[in-house]
Amino acid sequence: MTNFSATKLYEGKAKILYPTDDPEILLTYFKDDATAFNAQKRGQIVGKGEINCSIAAALFQELTKAGIPNHYIDCPAPNQMRVKAVKIIPVEVVVRNIAAGSLCRQTGLPLGKVLPQPLVEFYYKNDELGDPLLTIDRLLLMELASPAQLEQIKTMTLGINQILGKFFQDCGITLVDFKLEFGVDNQQQIILADEISPDTCRLWDAQEPDPNLRVLDKDRFRQDLGNVEGAYQQVLARVKQALS
Ligand code: UDP
Repeated sequence: MTNFSATKLYEGKAKILYPTDDPEILLTYFKDDATAFNAQKRGQIVGKGEINCSIAAALFQELTKAGIPNHYIDCPAPNQMRVKAVKIIPVEVVVRNIAAGSLCRQTGLPLGKVLPQPLVEFYYKNDELGDPLLTIDRLLLMELASPAQLEQIKTMTLGINQILGKFFQDCGITLVDFKLEFGVDNQQQIILADEISPDTCRLWDAQEPDPNLRVLDKDRFRQDLGNVEGAYQQVLARVKQALS
């Protein structure tokens, strides 16, 4: 049973983590709160909690079917997800298929340039330091993961990119880039954790040429493009349609 009187284990920008009666299982509550630019911009996206929870649940189930181990168990309510307890590796793994966001800002590559192959990047998950981009050597120096774990994370990430890229293509959506987080379970296995949603992915309507209208993700909130709720609902509707 959901015990909301229990002390929160952790509250992040978009989710709250609660313990359950089973120490192997945690309950994630998805909030409507939205933040950007390391929480300097704050707001609410009405219905986001339920939408992101539903999208993430659908994507985790697709990944499970494709053999990618992840923390998803089930959703006891529309904005709640039960997940396997893991120790989160404090590294944000970003995969990019098309240049956007910080890749454009930091390299000068033009927005929308299709990359010759997916680019996997690692960022240190540390708000105080502003989530800096890591080199592999820094990541290993900081012992954030072992070399073997890092290899496994990279292989899993590229696999996830293939599976989700195809899935979103079937939804008429281009998977531009996204962020993943991994955790270590009680058997020391690396599994996919956190969430995959329009908060953590760049998703473009594949049929829409207009660079503002095509955006179906948190960039609508970051860049004040308007109709944020509508875009998130659109993604959920297309995901549901693809699964039906
Ligand atoms: N991302 C995320 N959380 C973060 C940083 C990035 O989910 O703390 C996602 C973001 O939504 C995008 C991808 O990772 O899909 C790449 O983000 P980028 O590095 O371009 O950062 P931004 O331009 O958003 O600052």
